[in-house]
Amino acid sequence: MTNIHPSVDGGVKPGSDNFEGGTLKCKCADKPVVVKISSQSAHNHICGCTKCWKPAGAQFSQVAVVPSKSLQVMENGGKLDVIDPRAAINRYACKGCGVHMYGRIETPTHPFYGLDFIHTELSDDDGWSAPEFAAFVSSIIEAGANPSSMGDVRSRLKELDLEPYDCLSPTLMDVIAAHVAK
Ligand SMILES: [Zn+2]
Ligand SMILES: [Zn+2]
Repeated sequence: MTNIHPSVDGGVKPGSDNFEGGTLKCKCADKPVVVKISSQSAHNHICGCTKCWKPAGAQFSQVAVVPSKSLQVMENGGKLDVIDPRAAINRYACKGCGVHMYGRIETPTHPFYGLDFIHTELSDDDGWSAPEFAAFVSSIIEAGANPSSMGDVRSRLKELDLEPYDCLSPTLMDVIAAHVAK
């Protein structure tokens, strides 16, 4: 079967309506970075871009947003480093295990300013909002996927009810366009 991401390969788990956040932990066995999120996630999705952190063997990442003010680094924040400070999204990765703990938009004019990107799979807590769609699907080819496998990838995504897009979802593209129009 076509592998997408471990958190959806067995079927998409629904989120919980009254979930109010949880704890993310990096993969270090010793002194893991711990990040506390005090809100439910939004716009959770599967992403095929080459910038998002992916677990070993996955073709896609899984990424969601939360308000920056609901994110707090609790333990071992000294292990975090920004991968590329010039990128629109500053991705804070653990120097020990390479996991991205959060991505922060530092540009006030950016359409998603005030939001942080997180990987809810780094949490043992149940109830995070479920992935809703798949973004930047064609970009997995840039990461080495065989172009001839794309038909299988897209039909598997549809089977999982994760509508495949080659940019962001129409909702998020509308958010960006409305911001640009202002
Ligand atoms: Zn780590
Ligand atoms: Zn991505």
